[in-house]
Amino acid sequence: MWLLTLLFAAGLLFGAVLNSLADNLPPDADDVRHAPRRPRCPHCGRSHRPPYWLAVAGLLLQRGRCEHCGSPRRWRPVLVELAAGFVTAYLWVWAGAAVGSLPDLAVRYLAALVLVLSLILVTVIDVEHRLILWVVVWPTALAILAFSALRSLAPLVMPGLEMAGNDLVKSLLGGLAGYGVTLAIFVLAEVYIRVVRVVRGQPLEEVAFGGGDVNLAGLVGLAVGWPGVILSLTIAIVAGGLFSLVFILVQLARRRYTPHSVFPYGPFLVLGALVIYLFGKNLAAIFVAGR
Ligand SMILES: [Zn+2]
Repeated sequence: MWLLTLLFAAGLLFGAVLNSLADNLPPDADDVRHAPRRPRCPHCGRSHRPPYWLAVAGLLLQRGRCEHCGSPRRWRPVLVELAAGFVTAYLWVWAGAAVGSLPDLAVRYLAALVLVLSLILVTVIDVEHRLILWVVVWPTALAILAFSALRSLAPLVMPGLEMAGNDLVKSLLGGLAGYGVTLAIFVLAEVYIRVVRVVRGQPLEEVAFGGGDVNLAGLVGLAVGWPGVILSLTIAIVAGGLFSLVFILVQLARRRYTPHSVFPYGPFLVLGALVIYLFGKNLAAIFVAGR
């Protein structure tokens, strides 16, 4: 139990780092990107003092108010810290559930931790800015590939060692499939929109191409591998479809329907990735048992 508490505390610190990245990596109103810096108050602009760098500490010790000007601090940093703390502890339990050897446990835990923390960052930035940043996706993709390469190489170095998870080939195939399928969907959607506009005699506008979503789908594919990526994308498309249906119905009910209101797709890709990455084996077992 002390280990899980320790991991939760470490996770809170990871959450503080994620908050700093989410605050500074997206371009600001002047289109300037900042290097990650200390947490600061959006009202008075001053950096929080070290005891309050953790938003959770600010909530407990200062009732969630800035120690300089007394303005309320935002909720998002608290939620991100708690989420990061929870997954840092939970993934240890998850990784230990199906594992024999120590190298296998270590790789399983670290790979899952890097992936899930990165996906939390992707979700926060996409929800707040409608952006999926290269600078988040690329390092995560390289880390996932490094773990997959480790799984391919380790049994060669230590004969008899069994590693759970995708090897390099499965991972690369999954990444290609995720990237390719999503790219095809976006190109078809783009062609469809253009054809409709031409038929109706409307002017052709630049359509915002969801390049970030395609990159994220590639990242999801690298993580869940082939053939899991297909299930992952299916979950994302169904969940996104259901959400937009409910969204449109609510808007219609409030008589506020605008056909072009855009919502971020990233969180649905993240949802599909997490379900298959963390519980794909269990789902497959249920499916086989039910036949
Ligand atoms: Zn302040």
